[in-house]
Amino acid sequence: MPERFLNYIGGEWTAPSTNDYFENRNPADREDVIGRFPRSGAADVERAVQSARRGFAAWSRTPAPLRGQVLQRVGELLVQKKEEIARAMTREMGKVLPETRGDVQEGIDTAFYAATEGRRLFGRVVPSELRSKWAMSFRRPIGVAGLITPFNFPLAIPTWKTFPALLCGNAVILKPAEDVPHTVHLLVEVLLEAGLPPEVIQLVHGQGSILGRALVEHPDVPVISFTGSTETGSIIGATCGRMHKRLSLEMGGKNAMIVLDDADLDLALDGVLWGAFGTTGQRCTATSRLIVQEKVHDRFLRMVCDRAATLRLGPGLDPTTEVGPLIHAAARDKVAEYVGIAKGEGASVAIGGAVPSDPRLAHGWFYQPTVFAGVTPGMRVEQEEIFGPALSVIRVKDLDEAIRVNNGVPYGLSSALYTRDVNAAFRAMTDLDNGITYVNAPTIGAEAHLPFGGVKQTGNGHREGGWEVYDFYSETKVVYVDYSGTLQRAQIDTYDK
Ligand code: NAD
Repeated sequence: MPERFLNYIGGEWTAPSTNDYFENRNPADREDVIGRFPRSGAADVERAVQSARRGFAAWSRTPAPLRGQVLQRVGELLVQKKEEIARAMTREMGKVLPETRGDVQEGIDTAFYAATEGRRLFGRVVPSELRSKWAMSFRRPIGVAGLITPFNFPLAIPTWKTFPALLCGNAVILKPAEDVPHTVHLLVEVLLEAGLPPEVIQLVHGQGSILGRALVEHPDVPVISFTGSTETGSIIGATCGRMHKRLSLEMGGKNAMIVLDDADLDLALDGVLWGAFGTTGQRCTATSRLIVQEKVHDRFLRMVCDRAATLRLGPGLDPTTEVGPLIHAAARDKVAEYVGIAKGEGASVAIGGAVPSDPRLAHGWFYQPTVFAGVTPGMRVEQEEIFGPALSVIRVKDLDEAIRVNNGVPYGLSSALYTRDVNAAFRAMTDLDNGITYVNAPTIGAEAHLPFGGVKQTGNGHREGGWEVYDFYSETKVVYVDYSGTLQRAQIDTYDK
């Protein structure tokens, strides 16, 4: 009988009100059941909110440096448990072990950054325009934050949201993706072991359309942070707009790597393989378009196909594996569907385009690394997020056209440019319409201490990571202190004295 996991609500591990559970299975071997997790209902959200409100009352009054000390211990515990958590994550999510170790490391970096922020969390003191008057701002906690996370970074993304939310003095309700509940269970155990007061964190498992929705619609959850598909983000955005909630959205991408004629092609080759097929293409920053200048196009396409065809598929816990499975059957079906769409639109399938025939892979959601050649701007495989190991290759004349193609999609997360020309690099840095641009590095590789996010339909203007996320999780309060003993009127008594 597989292990049964519980929600964490009201300071204890607790069964869902529905008494209903779902199975969490290994995507590399669907016979392997990791555990049964609660399929919770709206009543569980209600209990979680009431508990979080109690947690908030005390935590919001705990000095920020002390809150930072808890996050320091969280970071230290994650260091100790890095290997254990990485292995659990690979088992439920599928990506290879070096990548899940990196995922935990991102959580560690985020914890240590948050810990130091406890002694900053700066406000400002600025000169008043009037005499004998001070003008200043400081940060206040907001309340209960509802955090909804996707499957592809099972630890890192929950930490990007949870740690700054906690550091700023908020209480948290975490709703992880249904495909990766175990990793977040382990994270909550770490938070509690580190000494976080119990009612400051709540963990509720279940379906997005029921549980996620109940969280977003709850009037006592003023802050929502969501990472996931643009489709789901639009639904959440509509609710939060109507209810005037503070909302951070991190959504889909259609990221491009541009390779100019003068690029170091061997370097670009390593970059595109890692960008397109790392995490089996299931990164928000995955390289899903390769835009190549015409002189090197044919040669570089051959180089990419030759290498991509040799990538070793297998379970992520096997050290020889380079590409793991997709997360579930629907994700694999979606890639297969786009192979049909690409052919129908007149692109060719240069390599891949099928489920691998190797019987050792038959129990997992594997798909061959796939390269579409002859893709032109406007094709669906050029415009739409596939979220799998599929790369669309587009030929362009020059940098101007490359920038136009890069910018001609509804998304704007990351982009990459390979060139040795410094002028081209600076042009691209300025004109590529993305939240992040890499020069001579692939579209993936964000560091925890810099702001992360995208433009257009990728986001709604907020950023995760770095210093900017602390603005999202705190309210700015402004205070004026007038010690002149007289009525001084702003804008009126200013210049004539
Ligand atoms: P998803 O939108 O299917 O699910 C994300 C989360 O939302 C899950 O926890 C799900 O249960 C929940 N959810 C679903 N319907 C909901 C509803 N109606 N109300 C509230 N919550 C709901 O996304 P996914 O398949 O888990 O993740 C893949 C997507 O995430 C891709 O589009 C990818 O680009 C995006 N992503 C973006 C970033 C970024 O930073 N921009 C990072 C990682 C992933």
